[in-house]
This record gives sequence, C-alpha cells and structure tokens, in this order.
Amino acid sequence: MTSQVLLLGAGIVGVSVALHLQERGLSVALLDRSLPGEGASFGNAGLLERCCVIPYAIPRDWRSLFGHASNLKAAVHYDPTFLPRIARWMFGYWQASRHDRLMKIAGELLPLLEVCLGEHDRLVTAAGLGHLVRRQGWIEVMRSAETLDAGAERVALMARDYGLAADLLDRGALARLEPSLMDAAVGGIHWRDPYSITDPGALTKGYAALFEERGGTILRGAVTSLVRDGAGWQVKTDGETQVAERVVVALGAHSATLLKPLGLSVPLVAKRGHHLHYAGVGDAMLNHAVLDEEVGYVLAPMTRGIRLTTGVELADPNDPPNRVQLSRCEVKAREIFPLGQPLEDTPWLGLRPATPDMKPVIGEAPGLPGLWLAFGHAHHGLTLGPATGRLLAEMMTGEAPFADPRPFDMRRFI
Ligand SMILES: Cc1cc2nc3c(=O)[nH]c(=O)nc-3n(C[C@H](O)[C@H](O)[C@H](O)COP(=O)(O)OP(=O)(O)OC[C@H]3O[C@@H](n4cnc5c(N)ncnc54)[C@H](O)[C@@H]3O)c2cc1C
Repeated sequence: MTSQVLLLGAGIVGVSVALHLQERGLSVALLDRSLPGEGASFGNAGLLERCCVIPYAIPRDWRSLFGHASNLKAAVHYDPTFLPRIARWMFGYWQASRHDRLMKIAGELLPLLEVCLGEHDRLVTAAGLGHLVRRQGWIEVMRSAETLDAGAERVALMARDYGLAADLLDRGALARLEPSLMDAAVGGIHWRDPYSITDPGALTKGYAALFEERGGTILRGAVTSLVRDGAGWQVKTDGETQVAERVVVALGAHSATLLKPLGLSVPLVAKRGHHLHYAGVGDAMLNHAVLDEEVGYVLAPMTRGIRLTTGVELADPNDPPNRVQLSRCEVKAREIFPLGQPLEDTPWLGLRPATPDMKPVIGEAPGLPGLWLAFGHAHHGLTLGPATGRLLAEMMTGEAPFADPRPFDMRRFI
C-alpha cells in the first residue's frame, strides 16, 4: 500500500478532504493530472457564498422558461444539439426545482453553509493565506426601482429566516461603497456575511502546499481506471499504478466517467462557465465583487484584474471555450462599470460539477467498501470544499459527523 487514502483530484474539494484526513492522522496522497487548483477551482468568481442559502434552481414559471427558450439571454446559454443528451438530468433538475423540494434541499445544505467560513478561516490562517481573503461581503446591483423594492423584501426575509446580514443600498449608499459604479446601477444589496477570494486558484494551491508541509504527498498522473485490489483499490494512471486501502474520488465534473465501469451511474453534468480579466478605465476600481443578477454575471476584483465570470452554458464539456456569453455580459457590464480592454486573448473555461438535485455527493460508494465520493458542488464548490472535507473525514474515521450526511448519499440516485 502506498498510502492509506489516495485522493483523486486536487481541486478545492480534494485538497480540503486531504487536509481533514491528514489532521486525523491518516497517511494521504493526492493525485491529479495537473498541478493542484487548475480545474474549476482555478477560475471561479471567488465568492464564499455564505448567503446563497437557496440553490440555483430552474425557473418553473412559463414566462422565464420562454425567455430562456430564445437562447439569447446572457445568464444561460445552451447548445440545442446537446440538450437531448442531458434530457433526463434536466427533467430531474426541473423536478427538484419545485418550491417545496427546493426548500427541503436548502435545509439539507444549510449545515454545510453554516460552517463554510469557519472552516476556510482555519485553513487560511494555518496556510498563511490571509492576503487572498476579503471579509467584507459582496454587492448585488439592481437596475430598476422595481427590483430594488423586491430586494428589500428579500433582505428582510433572509435576515428573518437565516440570520443573514445585508443592507439595502440606494444610489447614494451604493456610490459610497463603490464610487466607480455607473448610473445604470440604481442601488443594490450589500450581502455582508460572505468573503471573497482574490485568487481562488492560489487559495487551492496554498491549501495543497499546507498539506505537503504537513507531510502529505502530491502525485502527478491522469487516472485511467479504478479497480478493486484485494481489500483495497488499484488506480491506473498514464504513469505509475497506485494502490491504496481507501480511495476518494474528487475529480469534479470528471468524476462520473471513472465510476461508470464500476456500475455506478452518477447523473453529473458539467455546467460550463467562462471568465476573462479586464483592466479598469483610468483609476476606476471595485472594492467588492459585484453580481448583476438581472443579466447574469459577476465582476470580481482579482489579483489579475477585474474578472468577469459568466453564468451557465449547457454544451459538450469538451467543446472549446467561446465568447457567446462573455460578449453579451461585457456589453451589459460596461453599463455598470468602466471596463477597459480584456487582458487575455482566450477566455478561461471551467466545469461546474452539477447533480440534478443541486446537492453534492458525499459519502461511501454503495456496495463498494473503501471507495468514497466527494463531488457535485456545482456553483458552490469553493464555498463548500472545506466543509465537505470535514464531513467526509468524520465519516471515514468514524467520528460523529457535524451534519447529517444522508441527504448527500449516492444511493438517492439508484
Ligand atoms: C465561472 C464559474 C464561477 C464560479 N464561481 C464560484 C464562486 O464564486 N463560489 C463558489 O463557491 N464556487 C464557484 N464556482 C464553482 C466552483 O468553481 C466549483 O464547484 C469547484 O471548483 C469544484 O471543485 P472540485 O474540486 O470539485 O473540482 P475541480 O476544481 O475541477 O477539481 C477536479 C480536479 O480533478 C482533476 N482531474 C480530472 N480528471 C482527472 C483524471 N482523469 N486524472 C487525474 N486528475 C483529474 C482536475 O485536474 C482537477 O484538478 C464557479 C465555477 C465557475 C465555472
């Protein structure tokens, strides 16, 4: 046995699980085909979304659905030839989006969200990564008086039901927090609980460096197969074969492919998302990450520039990056903030690993002892990586889990 636990995938989820297992005294190795933090964990919007207690559902009203059917919206774009391939997943997603089911799912996810900032804080301090963290929330901008009014209701509801801290901002209050925002933003909400990370890839790499400093091993190789090996597991790669007592699959959007030959069919779809960085015009700057919900993008001040991240694209994960949503969002973003020229020629593409019920898969694989699963965090993997790491490590070491793990069990899809 090369290690007691072999972690497949060194994204934010895999690295976090590795740290938690290591803290509990297990010998752990992390295996990835790239350096840590080069997958979806590299280029996201960097929000630790403590306030996003209701997951992103499919709208169920006909008006919104018809709006999306035009395929001209910035927030969601799809390749019509790809949709039949994910029809079953889409139907499951639509069913899970029914209000009562959505609220149940939100309740199941809540214990993870409640510890997400504390779990990051602990790792950030241990890894000396405080310079990457802004503990000042983020701003949702509104483009009309009507949406601002609706925002007021939401602020009151979120404070009452979930204890979230948020301020409604009129134009003047918004300008005091963000002087460079332009008049198309008539106001907004300052969600004060979340953090934002100025370089999510560097955060994941920093957590991986902490794992190595504490004696963990990081291996390089593309996993090609996973098979039983006596009481343990054998992992074949394009290089050396690895053997371990226990294996954790944390390959993000690529997790399902590896599990299929083992008879595990996981409904996992990659929700594609892009980013590009921009300079600000003159001395224009952003102090907070800004979400333009009505259009569907985030502008986040990052180490590399102002990062514009897009919403969801449903298309073949192997298709190259494109500018469809970026171009639509860029036009609208220029109404809000004086963006300069893009700082890269090619957009970055990331794959959000998404299950139809908006919950990750966390736990042991049914009927396959010693094989553990940690993937499917969709829009909130950066937020929930360390909380997932704690939950899975507690389950693997027989500790009392801090949250009920049953809602995340793979068996719900069988
Ligand atoms: C545009 C965009 C914006 C986002 N914004 C946010 C946000 O603000 N906040 C938030 O919480 N989340 C956000 N997300 C979601 C978040 O990025 C993901 O949920 C999270 O990164 C998933 O982490 P992961 O570790 O599961 O996967 P990944 O980071 O993708 O890691 C999987 C790893 O597996 C490796 N791998 C894959 N296949 C193999 C193989 N065969 N062999 C070896 N290694 C392999 C990859 O190299 C990779 O390192 C966003 C995502 C996108 C795309």
